[in-house]
Amino acid sequence: MALPSLLSHSRTRPSVLREPLRQGGLRALLAPWDPPPVHPHDRAAEHACTPPSTESSSPGHHRPPPLNWIRVGGRTVSSGAGTSLTQYGSTNHTLTSHRRSYWTLCPQHPSSGPPARIATKEAQHRVKDPLEVQRRTFGSAAEPIQRNPDFSVLNSDDVSFFKSILGDNGVVQDKDRVAVANVDWMGKYKGASQLLLLPKSTNEVSKVLAYCDSRRLAVVPQGGNTGLVGGSVPVHDEVIVNLGGMDKIISFDNVNGILTCEAGCVLENLSTFVENEGFIMPLDLGAKGSCQIGGNISTNAGGLRFIRYGSLHGNVLGLEVVLANGTVLDMLTTLRKDNTGYDLKHLFVGSEGSLGIVTKVSILTPAKLPSTNVAFLSCNDYMSCQKLLLAARRSLGEIISAFEFMDRQCIDLAMTHLEGVHNPLPLSPYKFYVLIETTGSDESYDKAKLEAFLLRSMEDGLVADGVIAQDISQASNFWRIREGISEASVKVGAVYKYDLSIPVEKLYDIVEEMRSRVGDMAEVLGYGHLGDGNLHLNILSSKYSDDILAQIEPFVYEWTAGHRGSISAEHGLGLMKAEKIHYSKSPEAVQLMASIKKLLDPNSILNPYKVLPQSALSLEQQGS
Ligand SMILES: Cc1cc2nc3c(=O)[nH]c(=O)nc-3n(C[C@H](O)[C@H](O)[C@H](O)COP(=O)(O)OP(=O)(O)OC[C@H]3O[C@@H](n4cnc5c(N)ncnc54)[C@H](O)[C@@H]3O)c2cc1C
Repeated sequence: MALPSLLSHSRTRPSVLREPLRQGGLRALLAPWDPPPVHPHDRAAEHACTPPSTESSSPGHHRPPPLNWIRVGGRTVSSGAGTSLTQYGSTNHTLTSHRRSYWTLCPQHPSSGPPARIATKEAQHRVKDPLEVQRRTFGSAAEPIQRNPDFSVLNSDDVSFFKSILGDNGVVQDKDRVAVANVDWMGKYKGASQLLLLPKSTNEVSKVLAYCDSRRLAVVPQGGNTGLVGGSVPVHDEVIVNLGGMDKIISFDNVNGILTCEAGCVLENLSTFVENEGFIMPLDLGAKGSCQIGGNISTNAGGLRFIRYGSLHGNVLGLEVVLANGTVLDMLTTLRKDNTGYDLKHLFVGSEGSLGIVTKVSILTPAKLPSTNVAFLSCNDYMSCQKLLLAARRSLGEIISAFEFMDRQCIDLAMTHLEGVHNPLPLSPYKFYVLIETTGSDESYDKAKLEAFLLRSMEDGLVADGVIAQDISQASNFWRIREGISEASVKVGAVYKYDLSIPVEKLYDIVEEMRSRVGDMAEVLGYGHLGDGNLHLNILSSKYSDDILAQIEPFVYEWTAGHRGSISAEHGLGLMKAEKIHYSKSPEAVQLMASIKKLLDPNSILNPYKVLPQSALSLEQQGS
């Protein structure tokens, strides 16, 4: 074999959001905390990354030489002579070093001026008057949202009732802990709730909702609070019901790979559990250290394995859901096939807490395969990325498990703002980068396939340069770059975040058009799950500005609708896009959704102001 041998490794990719969010998020809800000191960003360590320098000879290079250089498995293979190798081993770093930077998240608010490094907790103290009407100028929900006067205001009798159901520990009024739950991960959306409830069973959720419905107290269901569209936090004074206390694994069928668990289980914990049983979760995302399976289902999260295992609509077998009036809807089947009437669980997959609270889940988990390889490649133009995707589908078909792309601006951002990452291809800047992961059952076969594919892609001019990870540390570095883009974006200051489904051939056009629209006012980044036609479009600036927003919206929605795309590929609508749904759904479909909402939640207590436009909901109310 011409190429140096590669090391396969089991997929134990680091979680982008592990300790920090759990501590800053759920853990902070469960107990008071103080963030550890923020460590200065050690840029010197990054610059220690050195390019290849020493050449040695490579025997047995039998394939026709590639046209360019390819670094594979940490080495550089010369194209001309086909014999020289360069050792390259600078991507080793520790995962713990990643974690420090999470404490420096930069929640920004229009009122907060120039970007500053603010710990999440500090920003959360900015929550002011509980009933303050918020003014948002950072995207979409620019108009103030009036509190629905039909909702009751929480009183001391309500709190006493909740304590009688949940006990003192399940009813949190401590200002610091409630403040954490009032703010989303980006620090963009802030509510003014005064009460956080932590139920521990379906029965408790049922009693809480039945009471809230009877009193007309509005409720926000909350999981790991990693959502990116403002769906997981209150808009005004809604009661927050966080599912983090419901984190038990109920059963695992290790013949069929069917996991049944409570909705508050953290995705990463489930991954660890099923991996020990020889299976994997069918979804994986950068927020896995904090997000909960109930939140994943409620957002119909996509993520990094979608290309291989598809949507949660296919993988979720059953759900238990508590409706707004407290009714427990038992749909917790573990059957693969069940055609008895309407499959109601699908209503709750992706409904973002607007139709019910998911309390239990059964989910199909695929078998864990022993061999994983990760390649980090560069392309000179977007057309090459597209052709590479097609070629990968043809050549790596059954083993491809991720195909992610990033433009150069993403790499520059990651190198500037993420601690401890190294550019795997530092010799020259390229316009595009692609991360390909393969997972299969035969180590030598998988390796040979990937190597052959990369050589062919080099020869065809699709790939300009590339590296295959030799070990878990290098693979982690590659993934850290891709998964860290959200975190790095937030550190710039203001981030206008769009998550679009667009036909792959047009997907990058909107990035370029957006660049020319915003000019010098902002930096535009394009990255995402290319294999799924899912673009993450981030527009970054030091602070939020109406001038920038005017260049972005409604253009971004109109452009997407014009290309028959979706304005939400995987993040959902939340608060950000509730009024924009008509760009992706017909009026008839939106009205039917409002009817379903009315049927299941007649008092509209569940996640108000989110998902559906006020006009459609009002029409339903008038019709009743
Ligand atoms: C760094 C980073 C990377 C991310 N990568 C991806 C990605 O690749 N793909 C992707 O799809 N998303 C991604 N996300 C977004 C987010 O992680 C997902 O939407 C995730 O599924 C949210 O889960 P959660 O438990 O944090 O839910 P939350 O943020 O707490 O809530 C999200 C929504 O679900 C509702 N909800 C939560 N729990 C329940 C429940 N038990 N019952 C009913 N409603 C509920 C909430 O009301 C809210 O509307 C990323 C986020 C971050 C910060």
